[in-house]
Amino acid sequence: MTNQRARKRFGQNFLHDKGVIQRILESIGPGHDEHFVEIGPGRGAITEHLAKQSGKLDVIEIDRELAAELREAQWVIEADVKIHMADALNFDFASLSDVGSSMRLAGNLPYNISTPLLFHLLDFHNLFSDIHVMLQKEVVQRMTASPGTKSYGRLTVALAARCQVEKLFNIGSGAFSPAPKVESSFARLIPMTKPLVSESEQTAFDAVLREAFGKRRKQLANALQTLLSTDAIEAAGIDPLVRAETLPVTAFVALGQQLQKQSSG
Ligand code: SAM
Repeated sequence: MTNQRARKRFGQNFLHDKGVIQRILESIGPGHDEHFVEIGPGRGAITEHLAKQSGKLDVIEIDRELAAELREAQWVIEADVKIHMADALNFDFASLSDVGSSMRLAGNLPYNISTPLLFHLLDFHNLFSDIHVMLQKEVVQRMTASPGTKSYGRLTVALAARCQVEKLFNIGSGAFSPAPKVESSFARLIPMTKPLVSESEQTAFDAVLREAFGKRRKQLANALQTLLSTDAIEAAGIDPLVRAETLPVTAFVALGQQLQKQSSG
Protein backbone atom coordinates (compact mmCIF):
# COMPACT_ATOMS: atom_id res chain seq x y z
CA MET A 1 0.00 0.00 0.00
CA THR A 2 1.17 3.56 -0.66
CA ASN A 3 2.27 5.54 2.30
CA GLN A 4 -0.63 7.93 2.67
CA ARG A 5 -0.31 10.37 5.55
CA ALA A 6 -2.35 9.45 8.61
CA ARG A 7 -5.41 11.69 8.86
CA LYS A 8 -5.84 13.05 12.35
CA ARG A 9 -9.49 13.95 11.86
CA PHE A 10 -10.25 10.27 11.20
CA GLY A 11 -8.34 9.17 14.31
CA GLN A 12 -5.82 7.25 12.25
CA ASN A 13 -3.24 5.42 14.33
CA PHE A 14 -2.23 2.28 12.52
CA LEU A 15 -1.19 -0.86 14.38
CA HIS A 16 2.27 -2.05 13.38
CA ASP A 17 3.37 -4.25 16.30
CA LYS A 18 3.08 -7.85 15.07
CA GLY A 19 3.00 -9.23 18.63
CA VAL A 20 0.04 -7.01 19.53
CA ILE A 21 -1.79 -7.86 16.29
CA GLN A 22 -1.26 -11.57 17.10
CA ARG A 23 -2.59 -11.12 20.64
CA ILE A 24 -5.68 -9.33 19.33
CA LEU A 25 -6.35 -12.12 16.85
CA GLU A 26 -5.89 -14.79 19.50
CA SER A 27 -8.44 -12.99 21.70
CA ILE A 28 -10.92 -12.75 18.84
CA GLY A 29 -10.33 -16.32 17.61
CA PRO A 30 -11.98 -16.03 14.18
CA GLY A 31 -13.56 -19.16 12.67
CA HIS A 32 -13.86 -20.12 9.00
CA ASP A 33 -17.66 -20.25 9.05
CA GLU A 34 -18.13 -16.87 10.77
CA HIS A 35 -19.31 -13.54 9.41
CA PHE A 36 -17.17 -10.63 10.63
CA VAL A 37 -17.68 -6.89 10.43
CA GLU A 38 -14.70 -4.60 10.97
CA ILE A 39 -14.96 -0.87 11.60
CA GLY A 40 -12.02 1.22 10.37
CA PRO A 41 -9.77 -1.35 8.65
CA GLY A 42 -7.22 1.37 7.81
CA ARG A 43 -4.29 -0.31 6.09
CA GLY A 44 -5.56 -3.74 6.99
CA ALA A 45 -3.41 -4.67 10.02
CA ILE A 46 -6.20 -6.80 11.51
CA THR A 47 -8.32 -7.05 8.36
CA GLU A 48 -5.93 -9.21 6.36
CA HIS A 49 -5.94 -11.88 9.09
CA LEU A 50 -9.72 -11.69 9.53
CA ALA A 51 -10.16 -12.04 5.77
CA LYS A 52 -8.07 -15.20 5.71
CA GLN A 53 -9.46 -16.73 8.90
CA SER A 54 -13.18 -15.97 8.66
CA GLY A 55 -15.96 -17.03 6.30
CA LYS A 56 -17.24 -13.61 5.33
CA LEU A 57 -15.98 -10.10 6.01
CA ASP A 58 -17.59 -6.68 5.63
CA VAL A 59 -15.48 -3.63 6.45
CA ILE A 60 -16.55 -0.03 6.94
CA GLU A 61 -13.96 2.64 6.21
CA ILE A 62 -14.70 6.37 6.00
CA ASP A 63 -11.45 7.37 4.27
CA ARG A 64 -11.92 7.21 0.51
CA GLU A 65 -8.20 6.74 -0.23
CA LEU A 66 -7.77 3.93 2.27
CA ALA A 67 -10.91 2.21 1.00
CA ALA A 68 -9.60 2.46 -2.57
CA GLU A 69 -6.20 1.07 -1.57
CA LEU A 70 -7.80 -1.83 0.23
CA ARG A 71 -9.86 -2.70 -2.84
CA GLU A 72 -6.59 -3.22 -4.76
CA ALA A 73 -5.00 -5.55 -2.20
CA GLN A 74 -4.57 -9.11 -3.43
CA TRP A 75 -5.89 -10.65 -0.22
CA VAL A 76 -9.06 -8.53 -0.47
CA ILE A 77 -9.70 -9.77 -4.00
CA GLU A 78 -8.98 -13.38 -3.09
CA ALA A 79 -11.06 -13.47 0.09
CA ASP A 80 -14.02 -11.57 -1.37
CA VAL A 81 -14.00 -8.91 1.35
CA LYS A 82 -16.77 -6.31 0.97
CA ILE A 83 -15.55 -2.76 1.51
CA HIS A 84 -18.17 -0.18 2.43
CA MET A 85 -16.92 3.37 2.14
CA ALA A 86 -19.13 4.87 4.83
CA ASP A 87 -19.33 6.55 8.20
CA ALA A 88 -19.73 3.88 10.89
CA LEU A 89 -21.54 6.44 13.07
CA ASN A 90 -24.64 6.27 10.92
CA PHE A 91 -24.09 2.92 9.23
CA ASP A 92 -27.04 0.53 9.20
CA PHE A 93 -25.41 -2.67 10.46
CA ALA A 94 -28.71 -4.54 9.99
CA SER A 95 -28.14 -4.21 6.22
CA LEU A 96 -25.21 -6.68 6.54
CA SER A 97 -26.96 -9.34 8.54
CA ASP A 98 -28.17 -12.63 7.11
CA VAL A 99 -31.47 -13.71 8.61
CA GLY A 100 -31.04 -16.24 11.39
CA SER A 101 -27.27 -15.97 11.84
CA SER A 102 -25.31 -13.60 13.98
CA MET A 103 -22.22 -11.60 13.11
CA ARG A 104 -19.05 -10.78 15.03
CA LEU A 105 -17.70 -7.24 15.14
CA ALA A 106 -14.12 -6.06 15.60
CA GLY A 107 -12.38 -2.72 15.35
CA ASN A 108 -9.50 -0.57 16.41
CA LEU A 109 -11.89 2.31 16.75
CA PRO A 110 -11.20 5.95 15.95
CA TYR A 111 -10.80 7.41 19.44
CA ASN A 112 -12.32 10.79 18.61
CA ILE A 113 -15.76 9.22 18.07
CA SER A 114 -15.57 6.22 20.38
CA THR A 115 -18.42 7.09 22.78
CA PRO A 116 -21.06 7.99 20.13
CA LEU A 117 -19.93 4.95 18.13
CA LEU A 118 -20.44 2.64 21.12
CA PHE A 119 -23.94 4.08 21.63
CA HIS A 120 -24.68 3.56 17.92
CA LEU A 121 -23.44 -0.05 18.13
CA LEU A 122 -25.72 -0.64 21.11
CA ASP A 123 -28.70 -0.05 18.82
CA PHE A 124 -27.59 -3.15 16.88
CA HIS A 125 -26.39 -5.28 19.81
CA ASN A 126 -28.74 -8.15 19.02
CA LEU A 127 -27.13 -8.69 15.60
CA PHE A 128 -23.73 -9.50 17.09
CA SER A 129 -22.58 -12.51 19.08
CA ASP A 130 -19.58 -10.49 20.26
CA ILE A 131 -17.79 -7.19 19.77
CA HIS A 132 -14.04 -6.73 20.19
CA VAL A 133 -12.80 -3.16 20.30
CA MET A 134 -9.60 -1.25 20.84
CA LEU A 135 -10.25 2.04 22.58
CA GLN A 136 -8.59 4.71 24.61
CA LYS A 137 -7.77 3.22 28.04
CA GLU A 138 -9.98 5.75 29.88
CA VAL A 139 -12.98 4.81 27.75
CA VAL A 140 -12.55 1.13 28.64
CA GLN A 141 -12.26 2.21 32.29
CA ARG A 142 -15.64 3.96 31.89
CA MET A 143 -17.12 0.87 30.22
CA THR A 144 -16.13 -1.40 33.10
CA ALA A 145 -16.38 1.00 36.08
CA SER A 146 -18.04 0.22 39.42
CA PRO A 147 -20.77 2.39 40.96
CA GLY A 148 -19.45 5.28 43.04
CA THR A 149 -16.21 5.66 41.06
CA LYS A 150 -15.27 8.64 38.90
CA SER A 151 -15.42 6.63 35.67
CA TYR A 152 -18.91 5.22 36.37
CA GLY A 153 -21.51 6.92 34.18
CA ARG A 154 -24.08 6.78 31.43
CA LEU A 155 -21.84 4.73 29.14
CA THR A 156 -21.16 2.13 31.87
CA VAL A 157 -24.84 1.65 32.67
CA ALA A 158 -26.09 1.78 29.06
CA LEU A 159 -23.62 -0.99 28.16
CA ALA A 160 -24.19 -3.07 31.30
CA ALA A 161 -27.93 -3.26 30.57
CA ARG A 162 -27.29 -4.99 27.26
CA CYS A 163 -23.80 -6.52 27.27
CA GLN A 164 -21.23 -8.20 29.43
CA VAL A 165 -18.13 -6.05 29.18
CA GLU A 166 -14.62 -7.31 29.82
CA LYS A 167 -11.31 -5.50 29.55
CA LEU A 168 -8.77 -7.88 28.01
CA PHE A 169 -5.42 -6.02 28.03
CA ASN A 170 -3.68 -2.67 27.70
CA ILE A 171 -1.60 -1.64 24.71
CA GLY A 172 1.11 1.00 24.82
CA SER A 173 1.17 3.81 22.28
CA GLY A 174 4.36 2.42 20.67
CA ALA A 175 2.31 -0.30 18.98
CA PHE A 176 0.79 2.32 16.65
CA SER A 177 2.07 4.59 13.95
CA PRO A 178 1.79 7.47 14.45
CA ALA A 179 1.87 6.86 18.22
CA PRO A 180 -1.24 8.30 19.89
CA LYS A 181 -0.85 10.51 22.97
CA VAL A 182 -2.97 8.11 25.00
CA GLU A 183 -2.77 4.48 26.10
CA SER A 184 -5.19 1.95 24.69
CA SER A 185 -7.08 -1.07 25.96
CA PHE A 186 -8.62 -3.98 24.13
CA ALA A 187 -12.08 -5.05 25.31
CA ARG A 188 -14.75 -7.66 24.62
CA LEU A 189 -18.49 -7.04 24.75
CA ILE A 190 -20.91 -9.96 24.70
CA PRO A 191 -24.49 -8.86 24.03
CA MET A 192 -26.95 -10.56 26.39
CA THR A 193 -29.55 -12.81 24.83
CA LYS A 194 -32.01 -11.29 27.32
CA PRO A 195 -31.01 -7.65 27.93
CA LEU A 196 -32.00 -6.12 31.29
CA VAL A 197 -34.04 -3.52 29.41
CA SER A 198 -36.68 -4.57 26.87
CA GLU A 199 -37.14 -2.70 23.59
CA SER A 200 -40.33 -1.04 24.84
CA GLU A 201 -38.52 0.21 27.97
CA GLN A 202 -35.50 1.54 26.13
CA THR A 203 -36.61 5.16 25.63
CA ALA A 204 -37.59 5.59 29.29
CA PHE A 205 -34.34 3.95 30.45
CA ASP A 206 -32.27 6.28 28.24
CA ALA A 207 -34.16 9.31 29.56
CA VAL A 208 -33.44 8.28 33.17
CA LEU A 209 -29.74 7.80 32.42
CA ARG A 210 -29.46 11.16 30.70
CA GLU A 211 -31.04 13.04 33.61
CA ALA A 212 -29.40 11.01 36.37
CA PHE A 213 -25.86 11.37 35.02
CA GLY A 214 -26.44 14.95 33.86
CA LYS A 215 -26.66 15.74 37.59
CA ARG A 216 -24.71 12.82 38.95
CA ARG A 217 -23.76 14.39 42.30
CA LYS A 218 -27.28 15.51 43.13
CA GLN A 219 -29.71 13.44 45.13
CA LEU A 220 -31.79 11.26 42.85
CA ALA A 221 -35.08 13.05 43.68
CA ASN A 222 -33.49 16.29 42.53
CA ALA A 223 -31.71 14.88 39.48
CA LEU A 224 -34.85 13.12 38.21
CA GLN A 225 -37.38 15.77 39.20
CA THR A 226 -38.53 16.39 35.61
CA LEU A 227 -39.23 12.66 35.14
CA LEU A 228 -40.22 10.99 38.40
CA SER A 229 -41.69 12.16 41.71
CA THR A 230 -40.14 11.15 45.03
CA ASP A 231 -43.04 8.73 45.51
CA ALA A 232 -42.42 7.18 42.10
CA ILE A 233 -38.71 6.71 42.88
CA GLU A 234 -39.67 5.02 46.14
CA ALA A 235 -42.22 2.87 44.32
CA ALA A 236 -39.33 1.61 42.15
CA GLY A 237 -37.66 0.50 45.37
CA ILE A 238 -34.93 3.16 45.28
CA ASP A 239 -33.97 5.63 48.00
CA PRO A 240 -34.60 9.12 46.52
CA LEU A 241 -31.89 10.64 48.71
CA VAL A 242 -28.94 8.72 47.24
CA ARG A 243 -26.76 10.14 44.49
CA ALA A 244 -27.25 8.78 40.99
CA GLU A 245 -23.58 7.89 40.58
CA THR A 246 -23.75 5.37 43.45
CA LEU A 247 -26.61 3.27 42.02
CA PRO A 248 -26.09 -0.14 40.37
CA VAL A 249 -27.44 -0.87 36.88
CA THR A 250 -30.45 -2.78 38.29
CA ALA A 251 -31.63 0.41 40.05
CA PHE A 252 -31.60 2.32 36.75
CA VAL A 253 -33.53 -0.52 35.13
CA ALA A 254 -36.20 -0.27 37.89
CA LEU A 255 -36.38 3.53 37.50
CA GLY A 256 -36.73 3.20 33.71
CA GLN A 257 -39.54 0.67 34.19
CA GLN A 258 -41.28 3.03 36.62
CA LEU A 259 -41.07 5.87 34.09
CA GLN A 260 -42.30 3.61 31.30
CA LYS A 261 -45.28 2.52 33.45
CA GLN A 262 -46.05 6.15 34.25
CA SER A 263 -45.94 7.28 30.61
CA SER A 264 -48.02 4.38 29.29
CA GLY A 265 -50.49 4.37 32.19
N1 SAM B 1 -7.67 -1.00 11.92
C1 SAM B 1 -6.51 -0.21 11.54
C2 SAM B 1 -5.33 -0.60 12.41
O1 SAM B 1 -5.57 -1.21 13.47
O2 SAM B 1 -4.21 -0.31 12.04
C3 SAM B 1 -6.78 1.29 11.63
C4 SAM B 1 -7.23 1.81 12.98
S1 SAM B 1 -7.34 3.57 13.08
C5 SAM B 1 -7.24 3.79 14.84
C6 SAM B 1 -9.07 3.94 12.81
C7 SAM B 1 -9.60 3.69 11.42
O3 SAM B 1 -10.99 4.04 11.38
C8 SAM B 1 -8.95 4.51 10.30
O4 SAM B 1 -8.72 3.70 9.19
C9 SAM B 1 -9.97 5.61 9.99
O5 SAM B 1 -9.89 6.11 8.68
C10 SAM B 1 -11.26 4.86 10.24
N2 SAM B 1 -12.39 5.73 10.60
C11 SAM B 1 -12.37 6.89 11.29
N3 SAM B 1 -13.60 7.38 11.47
C12 SAM B 1 -14.45 6.48 10.91
C13 SAM B 1 -15.87 6.42 10.77
N4 SAM B 1 -16.66 7.38 11.26
N5 SAM B 1 -16.40 5.37 10.10
C14 SAM B 1 -15.59 4.38 9.58
N6 SAM B 1 -14.25 4.39 9.69
C15 SAM B 1 -13.69 5.42 10.34
